[in-house]
Amino acid sequence: MQQQNYDLIVVGTGTAGTLLAARIAQHGVHPQTGEPLRIASIEAGPYWQGELRPGYGIPSRRHMITNLSDRRYQWPSGFARVVGGSSTHWGNASLFPFDSDYLRWQNETGVDWTRDKLKDAVAEVTQMYNFHQAPDTTRGEGNRLFRTAARQLGYQPTRFPMTRTNCLYCGYCGSGYMCRTDSKSSSLIYIPIAEKHGVEIIPDTEVEQVLFDKQGERGRVTGVSYRRGNQTGELRASRVLLSCGVINTPILLMRSGYGSKELLGDKLVVENPNVGNHYNSDQAFAVTAFSDKPLMEAGRGTNNGDYFFDYGERDGDLNLMISSNYANRIITPQSAAIGGYAPEFGRPHKEYMKTACTRISGVLMHQTGHKNSRGRVLPDGSREYSSDPRMIQRFEEGGQLCRKVLEGMGLKKIRLGNVAERVRAYRGNVHAMGSCRAGVDPRESVVNPRFESHDIDGLLVCDGSVIPRCGSSEACIPIVTVAAFAWRRIVEDHFS
Ligand SMILES: Cc1cc2nc3c(=O)[nH]c(=O)nc-3n(C[C@H](O)[C@H](O)[C@H](O)COP(=O)(O)OP(=O)(O)OC[C@H]3O[C@@H](n4cnc5c(N)ncnc54)[C@H](O)[C@@H]3O)c2cc1C
Repeated sequence: MQQQNYDLIVVGTGTAGTLLAARIAQHGVHPQTGEPLRIASIEAGPYWQGELRPGYGIPSRRHMITNLSDRRYQWPSGFARVVGGSSTHWGNASLFPFDSDYLRWQNETGVDWTRDKLKDAVAEVTQMYNFHQAPDTTRGEGNRLFRTAARQLGYQPTRFPMTRTNCLYCGYCGSGYMCRTDSKSSSLIYIPIAEKHGVEIIPDTEVEQVLFDKQGERGRVTGVSYRRGNQTGELRASRVLLSCGVINTPILLMRSGYGSKELLGDKLVVENPNVGNHYNSDQAFAVTAFSDKPLMEAGRGTNNGDYFFDYGERDGDLNLMISSNYANRIITPQSAAIGGYAPEFGRPHKEYMKTACTRISGVLMHQTGHKNSRGRVLPDGSREYSSDPRMIQRFEEGGQLCRKVLEGMGLKKIRLGNVAERVRAYRGNVHAMGSCRAGVDPRESVVNPRFESHDIDGLLVCDGSVIPRCGSSEACIPIVTVAAFAWRRIVEDHFS
């Protein structure tokens, strides 16, 4: 590490953190001297350096990954541990926040995050992530059948947008695989900007604690302590911006002594019971079906087909989003071989395997986390979650709707499973949000609408944890949109 003192330490070089470090370095200056900022961006995972060439990839990354998911680069929570964060693993199904999201944010926690105020952020993300519709030719037979069946049932299916550049549509990005050729857009696109503006990226280094002095009931940030292999140390900064994601940000804060008295006991230094609280997650269930004939063009999958809504409450809760996300997904031979449709042994199994990968299909039903669902992240990273009971009823209705769609697609062997059991067992997924949510009232939130902690001066937070919740059921684009909004506010307030 080149220096021990920074103007800003960004913890987590992930989806939001990469963007924030890059843009703050590019647009911010030291408020007293006007000099460029000294920024460190610390990441627990590896950094594969090199020129990002979408459609070809960073050569050093290609050495390290295959198209298959590699658990070495993931946290136990399923999120990614690598420079670029979960945007390198994401499925690339992307939607901007809905009008109902902006209203929810304002109504539920009082943040002034209006569509109008975020319009520059939306424009930035549209361009940087190359947000657009996939060409129609990339739609597979399953997607086409879904669209026709949905229309016959009276719904208006819409194309699922995506964010890719020079993509070959191999389809592997649909299930948490890193793209070898960096064709699916990720926050890695911000890395050259960060480096050009002097951000020091410090990989393979886990921040253990945010350090702060206690001043009465409040705190003031002084830096972070870290572990790198067997080595430990401290770095100093008057401002620390946490972007560790919806699970790791509250864990780090609680490990630093910031949280609820109930959970931290005598380890509590500064109290805010909202740290880890209000964790809110969408829920999604696949309803699979086995087709009599192959549905996929050989070896090619598309994860983004179409979707439609079956509407619930006026504010967007209990909306069911049904998509053909699974209608044309790549099925690997190993998952086909052990999946529920496979005969157990012998010749029938062998016959089945000849075509199984092209015949397993399905649809996906989603509901956004309801306002009355209750969740929290505990200091060890485990999660408590209870969904609003009406979500079970809606999923049961949704299951029957999915069945009708699949029958309309001509599929007969349909597997729905026990929806109620699955909803009750649910503990949140990689689209979760809200565990350090933003709001105007310190009794209900961790940071204010300008991303500053209510209780610790110099502590900023921006990642999935600050967004109260989101209706689109897809997290990445809302998170980068809020981050693209946040850097503008952070530069204005702290680095102008
Ligand atoms: C497999 C998968 C599929 C997904 N599919 C989609 C999809 O199709 N559409 C969609 O919109 N969203 C999808 N998502 C969700 C979306 O990608 C995430 O919600 C989003 O990327 C999270 O952004 P973040 O900045 O909050 O956190 P992350 O991108 O996870 O960044 C956090 C970073 O902080 C680092 N970190 C954590 N703790 C520490 C520490 N103590 N010290 C140093 N570094 C630390 C982590 O290693 C990580 O790099 C998917 C996610 C996954 C994992």
